[in-house]
Amino acid sequence: MAKTTWLIKLLSWYQKEKREMPWRDNPSPYFTLVSEIMLQQTQVATVIPYFNRFIEKFPTVYDLADADEQVVLKAWEGLGYYSRARNLQKAAKMVVQDFNGKLPSTYDDLQKLPGIGPYCAAAITSIAFGNAVPVVDGNVLRVFTRFWGVFDDIRNTKVRDVFFNKLKPYVAEDNPSDFNQAIMECGALICKPKSPLCEQCPLSKDCFAFNSKKTEDLPVKSKLKPVPHYNIAVAVIQKDGKILIGKRDEKQMLGGLWEFPGGKQESKESLEETCLREVKEETGLQIEILNPLTSVKHAYSHFKITLHPFLCDYVSGKEIPKSATELKWVSLNDLSKYPFPKANKVVLESLYT
Ligand code: SF4
Repeated sequence: MAKTTWLIKLLSWYQKEKREMPWRDNPSPYFTLVSEIMLQQTQVATVIPYFNRFIEKFPTVYDLADADEQVVLKAWEGLGYYSRARNLQKAAKMVVQDFNGKLPSTYDDLQKLPGIGPYCAAAITSIAFGNAVPVVDGNVLRVFTRFWGVFDDIRNTKVRDVFFNKLKPYVAEDNPSDFNQAIMECGALICKPKSPLCEQCPLSKDCFAFNSKKTEDLPVKSKLKPVPHYNIAVAVIQKDGKILIGKRDEKQMLGGLWEFPGGKQESKESLEETCLREVKEETGLQIEILNPLTSVKHAYSHFKITLHPFLCDYVSGKEIPKSATELKWVSLNDLSKYPFPKANKVVLESLYT
């Protein structure tokens, strides 16, 4: 069967233009697993230094499976979506225990591992094992809704299934690994969300959106509801040269990370009142607020926060963990050994300046 013309052009463009990436230059199923988990919701440029440090610390799936979870979280610190790190380690343990240290190769078996959904399984099975399964992510949907002129809402999961089936025959035509990576690379470098570089695109000759001047109309993506915003007051409590931190419950969002005690501001409450109340509720301690520190804004996927930290002195009481799983007094020098969520990390760094 003759190869599809646009596909030949896309693959030859990819061979010339693909970016260097450490997991591409030195491929292995384990490297593909780590890189694909890190790349979920995160740009390549951000991932590269994290990937290099992570692989230096945990060069094999056995090293990752055996590591202390706190060390894994520390290596992930700042990359966000920490359940990815915990699931990656659980997946590594499963690979060692149930698959004899070898990553399963099929689309279905890969999805048995914690944290691996259809998208990630398709990427790993095609890139690491050459199996013909199409990847359907945001980049791929953008490229092909424009290329084929599909006006369905890409937030609808059924649309993903339609593209998965539509792409199956093409991924099987040549090299599945290159096919998937070429489309993702084209989406990242050329077919950008705003002002795509159609003149440089290997698909332009056959592209519906380019030829009908509809690149700005595609893909169709329904608007998300606005996310809520919360003010959070936290206390940086000092006592005998140490600071109090609490470990978040594993079952919570950001589970296993450490943070300063505090919580959400309630209506008609000042931030100082929130700080005193939350510390009392969470630790049982009486504290005195000395002064506010610089506040930090941060966005999570479903809400935004402004973190308002206060420098405080310990006054009385014995700390009892009420919402944290553990409370610890830690010297300023040792605080950097613990994994913190991003906004807390910014507060922490301000303490050293
Ligand atoms: S021609 Fe333009 S719109 Fe079409 S796939 Fe290429 S970059 Fe995207």
